[in-house]
Amino acid sequence: MPPFDVPEGDPFGPHNLPYGVFSPAGSTERTVGVRLGDHVLDAGAAARALGSPYASLLARPSLNPLLAAGRTTWSDVRRALTAWVTVPAHQEAVGAFLHPLASVTLHLPFEVADYVDFYASENHARNVGQMFRPDAADSLTPNWKHLPIGYHGRSGTVVVSGTDVVRPSGQRKAPADPAPVFGPSVRLDIEAEVGFVVGVPSERGRPVALGDFREHVFGLCLLNDWSARDIQAWEYVPLGPFLGKSFATSVSAWITPLDALEDARVAPPDRTHPLLPYLDDAQDEPGGYDLRISVAINGSVVSEPPFSTMYWTAAQQLAHMTVNGASLRTGDLYGSGTVSGPEPWQRGSLLELSWNGRDPLELPEGKRTFLQDGDVVTLSAWAPGPGGTRVGLGEVSGRITASAVV
Ligand code: CA
Repeated sequence: MPPFDVPEGDPFGPHNLPYGVFSPAGSTERTVGVRLGDHVLDAGAAARALGSPYASLLARPSLNPLLAAGRTTWSDVRRALTAWVTVPAHQEAVGAFLHPLASVTLHLPFEVADYVDFYASENHARNVGQMFRPDAADSLTPNWKHLPIGYHGRSGTVVVSGTDVVRPSGQRKAPADPAPVFGPSVRLDIEAEVGFVVGVPSERGRPVALGDFREHVFGLCLLNDWSARDIQAWEYVPLGPFLGKSFATSVSAWITPLDALEDARVAPPDRTHPLLPYLDDAQDEPGGYDLRISVAINGSVVSEPPFSTMYWTAAQQLAHMTVNGASLRTGDLYGSGTVSGPEPWQRGSLLELSWNGRDPLELPEGKRTFLQDGDVVTLSAWAPGPGGTRVGLGEVSGRITASAVV
């Protein structure tokens, strides 16, 4: 089948066109690619061949120049790409620059600037609250409905899908232990999340308003916030996550532009508490996204978290992150927080799925509470697209390897 004839119903058809960075077979050179079905278009080479003014943005080893170019250019480039892969007159010239997906090496698609992770799922926050603060009157902390809780993570350990994750070591102390011990984590977990990628920077001292979200954020990807629960539990009071999460964060190789997700926009859940004006989105266009996520361990689906249930939107998170005057940089990445729906089979972490280790999952290869060495975790997702189509998000996968510490 010719590469342009993407089967009908393919979630990576010409209505999607996510961006990545790849090296063709036999080459170490990196360049921007656009996924079409099971092929990758060398976007820079195609732009050059067609005399497109966007060649200088696309024939690059990272998405950062395109990210920095801003919304008007993002839309123009997408329009051009759509024409190249759909208009027969262009297809002949462009066809030479399509590579089979299976033949290329995919790389981290952008230089990650700052990395922030949020905690925006009410179901997740309540589950964690019930497990760790069983005596509290409310499973949510008093601030939870007033601001999107987050922390600054480690951008240097954000890795692309397919990268192995070495089991981290650190201090842990179970409640009954008389003293902390050191060693490989025995409660290694996942967090199924969506990552938002900032393109256009902002000036220090000037907050980004809710309504400016789309001027700054280019697109989204799937994100796995690997978490060592035992290290985290001992270290996190009072300053929050640190070494229990900073060892690795995996992102998909494909960044889906917001422009591909227009049909997936939905209103977030009803607000139960009044919001301060800088977070009040009652009069705004819908800020949620209907993304249907699947979590698989060694190929068995263990959960299907619905992103549409997230209480805080990405626009609110961006507004909150900058309301103190903190500036944005091209390549900033922020995670949504673990996505957990209201049902037990919609929970986005093993902590919740096994209820803190009490209820092991039954997999074909054995029971799981937390991850074992050799386990492969894969997040995938799709969103409603135009005319009943599906927009696929690039999967994010990672395999656990044995600790480097003996
Ligand atoms: Ca997280």
